[in-house]
Amino acid sequence: MGKGKNGGTFSLPEQLKDLRLEPVDGEDKIKLGSKAACVEDLPAREVLQEATAALCDRLTDLQEAFHADGSRALLLVLQGRDASGKDGVIKSVSGAFNPSGVRISSFGPPTPLELRHDFLWRVHEQVPPRGVIGVFNRSHYEDVLVARVRKLVPESVWRGRYALINAFEELLAESGVVVRKCMLHVSREEQGERLRERLHDPHKAWKFRLGDLDDRALWDDYTEAYKDALRQCSTKAAPWYIVPSDDNKVRNFLVARMLVETMESLDSKYPPMDPKVREAAVGFH
Ligand code: ADP
Repeated sequence: MGKGKNGGTFSLPEQLKDLRLEPVDGEDKIKLGSKAACVEDLPAREVLQEATAALCDRLTDLQEAFHADGSRALLLVLQGRDASGKDGVIKSVSGAFNPSGVRISSFGPPTPLELRHDFLWRVHEQVPPRGVIGVFNRSHYEDVLVARVRKLVPESVWRGRYALINAFEELLAESGVVVRKCMLHVSREEQGERLRERLHDPHKAWKFRLGDLDDRALWDDYTEAYKDALRQCSTKAAPWYIVPSDDNKVRNFLVARMLVETMESLDSKYPPMDPKVREAAVGFH
């Protein structure tokens, strides 16, 4: 699988060959139960960690060429319930990129001004320009998740949004933005553990919001809302991936691998030197 840091090649260990994400196919039955949050035959921690580090080195190289090439943008959308690991992925995977070429955007409840615009207004503005990788920590999908579950808008409004989202993402794809969307899927049991840990760990307690417990109580409603978003909005232009996220290391490996595969498929090229510079540099050596 591609070249490693400084041009050296690397390949994934045999036991990880089949551990990869597949895009959601809207025709399939979407599974969001506890089992889907884990992988069978969990590989050894060190093997996973080493492989993820190699993938991240590869991402560093790929981003350099991607940035220099400048013909496309890449947008990684991260969605998931509270404590599903969105911040963890940003730290582990986006940490591989040169910060000057990455833009991370978080979406909280809309401001009064944002509410006076269409729901995609604030999102469109955060889409990365060509040459840049954008990571969305939550996204326009909140407008068919929390907005639906908490009845922030009438059903006729959120129902119409799936088609609007597909059209928006198609516009992005047509404009050179490569869109990949990850739903970090944790089981109810694992989320319970993580929220309990947050309550008792002074380094994590600040992350706990009052709404987290309310959202947990609405677990099944969110599951239905996620299923619809995944089913209706996994397109060729902007596929969804369900990332089993009960184990942080598996989660990071899977996202890193999907990004490496995506970026390798772009085949970014370093632009040739400007002939005028070449000419001016004659004799410089
Ligand atoms: P996080 O939980 O991702 O670490 P915050 O604590 O800032 O970040 O929470 C963000 C909150 O904003 C979530 O509860 C989310 O549901 C809410 N939110 C995001 N987008 C919207 C939206 N479009 N409408 C209503 N609420 C939203």
